[in-house]
Amino acid sequence: MFKKVLIANRGEIALRVLRACKELGISTVAVHSTADNAAMHVRLADESVCIGPPPSRDSYLNIPQILAACEITGADAVHPGYGFLSENARFADILDAHNVTFIGPTAQHIRTMGDKIEAKRTAKRLGIPVVPGSDGAVETDTDALRIAREIGFPVLVKASAGGGGRGMKVAQTEADLPLALATARSEAGSAFGDDAVYIEKYLEKPRHIEVQVFGDGAGEAIHLGERDCSLQRRHQKVWEEANSPALTPEQREKIGSIVANAMRKLSYRGAGTIEFLYENGEFYFIEMNTRLQVEHPVTEAITGLDLVHEQIRVAAGLGLSLKQSEVKFSGHAIECRINAEDPRTFAPSPGKITHYHTPGGLGVRIDSAVYQGYSIPPFYDSLIGKLIVSGRDRAECLMRLRRTLDEIVVDGIKTTLPLFRDLVGNDDIIRGDYDIHWLEHYLAGETAAG
Ligand code: ADP
Repeated sequence: MFKKVLIANRGEIALRVLRACKELGISTVAVHSTADNAAMHVRLADESVCIGPPPSRDSYLNIPQILAACEITGADAVHPGYGFLSENARFADILDAHNVTFIGPTAQHIRTMGDKIEAKRTAKRLGIPVVPGSDGAVETDTDALRIAREIGFPVLVKASAGGGGRGMKVAQTEADLPLALATARSEAGSAFGDDAVYIEKYLEKPRHIEVQVFGDGAGEAIHLGERDCSLQRRHQKVWEEANSPALTPEQREKIGSIVANAMRKLSYRGAGTIEFLYENGEFYFIEMNTRLQVEHPVTEAITGLDLVHEQIRVAAGLGLSLKQSEVKFSGHAIECRINAEDPRTFAPSPGKITHYHTPGGLGVRIDSAVYQGYSIPPFYDSLIGKLIVSGRDRAECLMRLRRTLDEIVVDGIKTTLPLFRDLVGNDDIIRGDYDIHWLEHYLAGETAAG
């Protein structure tokens, strides 16, 4: 087992990893920017190293500084959390070259899954269902039309180098296709310096359902069920739950074993998430994240498993702590992402937290790194905490969520808490009847308030 783990992150996820290390008896090293001198992860770590000024590129993304911090402190492994360097293959390679273990998959797997077209090809080869479409980039408008006719309209034109939803255009009919191709190409060219585009069938009202997987890197892999993350704003997840209100246990088992089998064939190592769009009973792969996800606690709540313990075990070469047949799903869990943002405009709201009270009781978990008197710096993302509530079933979970949302107090800054207080009382949400467009329609006032 590792003696000392350096946590190359900040905020709630740095604290999450730190807690797992402490439980396993591993010493912790926090790294931080000058804006985070008073941060909780720095206060609670055994050691801390300042790695630069506030902008992420000069601190949390600064590979030489992080490497130097490993050398100074003698850390034998690095946990990257999510975001920042967590899906940076070069970082994984560099740590490897310096005999420091990267707690994550191989650099090669990060690279493959980081390339949209390559990831889709790999998924297909491994037996994971993908969205019907062109195999790679389409060269000419004639090729595009032929493929679009084969898969049927509407189709989505996507940038090969895409990210953040840019360079994506829907063509409802044949007549729309030339313009969709031209605009997607020019947007992709200016955003990514690469105007290659590909075509997919456009799914009109899908849900976002993702499967959590774990591999030991030696050919064994398990799945931990799914999470439904359909409630999104501008492709950012807002509310996540497990299980998905849309799946039966049979469907869960079926997609879970397809994905676990694929990960076995890949000899995947560590935690991974396979993201799907789900419509009319069919799953369509969109991407794989080769890291721990923000929403992992809902999976922990229904499996009783500590995913960070598992990541550390696997990275240390100890294998997975359980077999698929030992994974038991029980109850229901919902996570609300509490952001320091205006609940209507979503404009960031950094500043000092003047009052802070967190709810407690059975089935309530808060993952956060803030405290009363803490000042949220303006330099990083606006996630200040996650409220995770679980119950024996979805109804009990919603009941408990309503109670905890009444109890929680975060004053001095604006937060997205009022949005969750509205959502938890909405009829569509109570029924679990929503797709990936629901929240945008709701925020635009187009969904009947319940
Ligand atoms: P990016 O890397 O740019 O974020 P993704 O492929 O992950 O692109 O897609 C981003 C979002 O766009 C998805 O979460 C989904 O909401 C939507 N999307 C992607 N592909 C399709 C599709 N074939 N049909 C409908 N919506 C899609």
